[in-house]
Amino acid sequence: MKKSSKDYQRLGKGGHWMIRLSLSVVFFLSGLFKAIDPKGTSYKIAEYLTSFHCYQLADNEMLMLGTSLCLCLVEFVLGVYILLGIRRRLASWLCLILSTGFALLSLYVWIFNPVSDCGCFGDAVVLTNTQTFLKGVFLLTLAGMYFRYWNKTESLLSDGSHWIVSLFSMCFIFLFGMLSAFYLPMVDFRPYKVGVNILQAMEIPHDAEAPVYESSFILSKDGKEKRFSLENYPDSTWTFVRAENKLIKRGYEPLVKDFSVSDTLGNDLTDRILTEKNLFLLVSSDFSHADDAHIDEINEIVDYCHSKGYEFAALTASSGEDISKWQKYTGANYPIYISDEVVLKTMVRSNPGLMLLEKGTVMAKWSCNNLPMPEEDTDILSLHQDTRTSFLQLLKIILCYVIPLLFIIFVTNLQRTNKTNLNNSKMRKKIVAGNWKMNKNLQEGVALAKELTEVVKNPNCGVVICTPFIHLASVAEVIKGSAIELGAENCADKASGAYTGEVSAEMVKSTGAQYVILGHSERRQYYNETPEILKEKVQLALANGLKVIFCIGETLEEREANKQNEVVKAELAGSVYNLTAEEFKNIVIAYEPIWAIGTGKTATAEQAEEIHAYIRSTIAEVYGQAVADDTTILYGGSCKASNAPELFAKPDIDGGLIGGASLKAPDFKGIIDAWK
Ligand code: PEP
Repeated sequence: MKKSSKDYQRLGKGGHWMIRLSLSVVFFLSGLFKAIDPKGTSYKIAEYLTSFHCYQLADNEMLMLGTSLCLCLVEFVLGVYILLGIRRRLASWLCLILSTGFALLSLYVWIFNPVSDCGCFGDAVVLTNTQTFLKGVFLLTLAGMYFRYWNKTESLLSDGSHWIVSLFSMCFIFLFGMLSAFYLPMVDFRPYKVGVNILQAMEIPHDAEAPVYESSFILSKDGKEKRFSLENYPDSTWTFVRAENKLIKRGYEPLVKDFSVSDTLGNDLTDRILTEKNLFLLVSSDFSHADDAHIDEINEIVDYCHSKGYEFAALTASSGEDISKWQKYTGANYPIYISDEVVLKTMVRSNPGLMLLEKGTVMAKWSCNNLPMPEEDTDILSLHQDTRTSFLQLLKIILCYVIPLLFIIFVTNLQRTNKTNLNNSKMRKKIVAGNWKMNKNLQEGVALAKELTEVVKNPNCGVVICTPFIHLASVAEVIKGSAIELGAENCADKASGAYTGEVSAEMVKSTGAQYVILGHSERRQYYNETPEILKEKVQLALANGLKVIFCIGETLEEREANKQNEVVKAELAGSVYNLTAEEFKNIVIAYEPIWAIGTGKTATAEQAEEIHAYIRSTIAEVYGQAVADDTTILYGGSCKASNAPELFAKPDIDGGLIGGASLKAPDFKGIIDAWK
């Protein structure tokens, strides 16, 4: 057994599912959270680029937003692919590449501290840099295992629905991300969400835990730098270079850490802003990059506020020059105050955006693309916003994706089932073939064939009898004009020549036979027919216009070791998967578990269906779904009139190869009648 198969057995199906689930949940959620707040993600990407000194790229807002949307799309769709088993190979590569990239980035973040949190899950889950690194290593380990066993991932969808599920997922996440960027995030995970009182959110309890830092000092001597702590601080022969503080343990952190407002002269106005009633704040981190398409609407709101006696002010981190330009360009007649750029970007993800504060409580927020327009009969103050919990909002978004997705899967699967049934009932040939083996002398064989022609009239399936060589010519005469076709039980692996006792495919064909059984387990076992020999025989049979009933199947030990799939796949790969798709159309597969041949033990209909479906899937992998759908796959192994109906009722079982029960006309007829 190959080492990887042994390892897989150790991991087990459950273990594989755990890996698959973990990876899909991580990618699905990180894509979704980023799409909830694509602007936040674009700021984070810009932060990373700034730490790499790529200032120009980081300054390009559109590029950052585009990159952010692409990242959401790739992660979200990858999560869906892994979960549902779509494009399994591509998904395993992508998963490995992304996880490797993230692990390297997390190592960089852990060592150099360029950002305070990685931004993997937007603002929904904030990790420390150490947690980010551990997450990166864990994810890479899972991705490596998933990559190794990618082909063990079963698809939960029919092939036909892969493209539509992919397309729907891509469109959903892209449109959702675009909407979130155009308006505001539909779920707000930030400290300034609607309902939060900023004043309270800034409070630090008097018994709060303080953060712990580790200080180190870099000093130099003789051109060499060395790091010291307070405990081993060196003598004055060393020259101080710099000090570094590393956060060892975070102390208590209030929800809002850095909110402050001042006027342009530097006077602190924070308390005033946070105690004001009905205060509308125009928030713009940078006036020079603000969307100026809504100035008229903003001025209308300003007039409205003045008429109602509500306060209106702007908060910005712009330079004095940019403030003056804004005032001149927009005619702003409201006070403009200064605050921190990051704080302003966190408050409202729109430049400019509008926030309504009531004594420090965030009552509402608007993007510049959906500003609240004053109407005669409604006061803007009464336009309350959704303060439902983030969890419910998130659930709503996930359901908006999952419900149509389930509908799509249901409809496409229904279509496929109908198509498969149509294929089964109309297109794929059903066959009941008898294998007489080394039974009956010539006279007995001719008599049996005659009896069969009398009882088998208008069968609902193809009927084939495979007889010993010496019967072929005589039986061919007997069954002429009947519904019964003829086959041999073997043929030589040589075309012709000095091979005493052998019968060539050409000779078989010349008797009037149309079929030949090859690869029967008895011939593999007693006559040492190897996959290579069978490959030759198959080629010769097809070259002489015979159809091949190619037998495959596992031993009892192999079944008990759960190796049946591996065995049948190897048998097919060893002798028939070298054929062209055109040649393969003349192959009928007979799955015959060796432990069921002539033993009276039958595989249950479910066991047989499971492996027939697997065989068809491997044919689809090699020749495509259309050829797989057209291939007749027979079941063989103690098949009788009593169990045939249950077996033949399965969608992937297209008939039977019958040994013992084909030697008596009534028994054989009983099996043929199972197709009625
Ligand atoms: C066979 O040998 O092909 C076979 C299926 O035998 P039986 O039906 O007797 O099990």
